[in-house]
Order: sequence, then structure tokens, then C-alpha cells
Amino acid sequence: MSAITDLRARAFDVPLTEPFGIATGQQAVARNVLVEVELEDGTIGLGEAAPFPAVNGETQEQVLGALPAVMGPLVGLEVGRYRAVAEVAHDALQATPSALAAVETALLDALARHRGLSLWSFFGGAEGSLQTDITVPTGTAEAAAAAARRAVAAGFQSLKVKVGGTDVDDDARRLRAIHAAAPDAALILDANAAFDARDALRLLDAAGPARQRVALFEQPTAREDWEGLEEVQRDGGVPVAADESARSPADVAGLARAGAARVINVKITKSGLLAAWQMMLTARAHGLDLMIGGMVETELCMSTSACLAAGLGGVRYVDLDTPLFMAERPLRGGFEQRGPSVRVDGIERGHGVTVSDDAASR
Ligand SMILES: [Mg+2]
Repeated sequence: MSAITDLRARAFDVPLTEPFGIATGQQAVARNVLVEVELEDGTIGLGEAAPFPAVNGETQEQVLGALPAVMGPLVGLEVGRYRAVAEVAHDALQATPSALAAVETALLDALARHRGLSLWSFFGGAEGSLQTDITVPTGTAEAAAAAARRAVAAGFQSLKVKVGGTDVDDDARRLRAIHAAAPDAALILDANAAFDARDALRLLDAAGPARQRVALFEQPTAREDWEGLEEVQRDGGVPVAADESARSPADVAGLARAGAARVINVKITKSGLLAAWQMMLTARAHGLDLMIGGMVETELCMSTSACLAAGLGGVRYVDLDTPLFMAERPLRGGFEQRGPSVRVDGIERGHGVTVSDDAASR
């Protein structure tokens, strides 16, 4: 066993190569937070909070403001009692799930490193690698077509297209342009809750030949509009994924009972790490498919999520692409990404990510 001796947090700003635009806003810099947990033997565990104001209303300032409340209660606890320790963190941080996810990740990373185990093994080691999609953010049809061409040239077979930031006809034009540029690519539409059911169905109708390649429609309607999700699934003839609507295991069970979604998008930043794990098991128990995703996260959060998904196995949709949008890489290690392939079986300890000397000194 090893006791927790310290917990530190600092702002962690990572500029992006292009603004990451979704229906409800955009980010040009990922304004994240880095959390370090230290154990009495000197082991350091790292976690990342990735608040995305346009998605969950959380901000870097809120996360930095919330974290001090958990430091006192955690110091002195034994990290080997991970669930009990995470429960203490949950009590202090449940209003800021991205901060909770960062602390849960740092604690588990410290424990796994202390025991000489990778998180991938910890979660079960079912699959050695995953194939991720890549996002086409909101923007013009020309920019979307160019992004689709680049993605296909790099080997991606699945494109996650952000829709709902403009009117339906503009989105339909973008979809047709993307399809013309990448006719074999599967399309996952993600409206980030921006449509009502009628407009979501209208977009499918107006997509023309691109409609045939739409594999999934993620969160077409508002978070509370489960009837709208169900309507799009029924009348649109395309499976619907719940993201904003699915923030807890109870949400997952409710959505399954209501028949409102066939897929659940799980993100550790949205719910916390242990809740994300439980959401996956709950979805599976109800016969739903899984997507593993994230906010605008570096390889730290994304490697943790990849270890969770590949460790459990059978996750059908993988959306772990945001490190590809980072203009700087202040971290080292973690998963090995080559085009769409994300390998986790080479990670030796924890999630494998450390801070580069360069980033530690700035
Ligand atoms: Mg989404």
C-alpha cells in the first residue's frame, strides 16, 4: 500500500491547429487542467481535466477553483483502496465532472504505476488496439471536403461530421461535399443537441447520396428530448447515439428502457472515470452498443479512455482523435497513434503518459 502525500493542479493550455467547431461553439485552444497525485514512495500519477464550455458549461477556472476542496480529504488515504478514495473525490467534485475525471485518472495512474501495471491490463486487456474515426468540425463545405480528402488519404474510414451549427441546407451541402470527396467513408453525424427531430430528419432527407453512408446520428436533439431521439431513430432509419443525454449510469438505463438510443457515447470527462466504466457495463447489460469519445483532450485523457475501451473490448465506435488537432505536444508516451490505429498494448505503466521536460518548465 502507499499513501497519497500530495495533489497539485495547474492550467494546461494547448493550442489547436484549427478551431474545433461544434454546433454550440468552438475552441481554438484547449484550456485544460493537469492534475498530479504523489504517493509516499515518490510515484506520480497524472490526470487531465478537459472542460469544454460549449458542451458541458465547465471552464478551466471552475475546475481550478473546485480542486482545492479535494486535496485535504485525499492526503493520507491509501491509494490501494481506489474505489473508497475515488468516492471521497466524488463527494467533493460531483458538480465538476471533468475535475473528478482528472483526479480519478491521476489516482488510478499512480496506483497502476506503483504496482507496475498498465491501465489497459487493469481494465482487462481484451484488445490490443482500436480504430478511431476523425472529426470534421463545423465550417464551410469546401473546408469539410478538404478535411475528408486528407482523412481518407491518412487511412481513416469513418468521419465524424459536426452538424447543427448552421441551417439544415448548409449542412446537407457539407454532407454531399464530404461524400463526394470520400465516397467510401462511413459518416457519423453529431449535432451536439442542436436540432429538433423534424430538422434532423430533414437533414437526412436532404443529404442525397451521402445518406447511404450515414452509419449513426449522434445526439440529434436536446439533452432532455428523448422522444426526439426516438423519433429520429424510428423515422430516420438510422441508429441514434446518446451523448449529452447520457451522463450517468441511470441515464443509460433510462434511455435503454425508453428505446431512445441504440448507442451510448461514453466519455470520462463527461461523467468521471468510474461512472464512465459503470455506464459501459450498464449499456452492455441493456444490449446497447458503445462509443468511446472525449471532449478536446490530449493523449493523456485519450490514452486513459483507450485503455478503458480496449481493456473492456467490443466498443463499436471509437472517437479518440482530438490529439490530432493539437498544434503542440507537451506530453510524451501513452497510446501509439498511426492514422486511425490507436495501440495500447505497448503501454507499460498506468496510462503511460508523462509531462515532457519542456512542458514541466514552462
Ligand atoms: Mg458528441
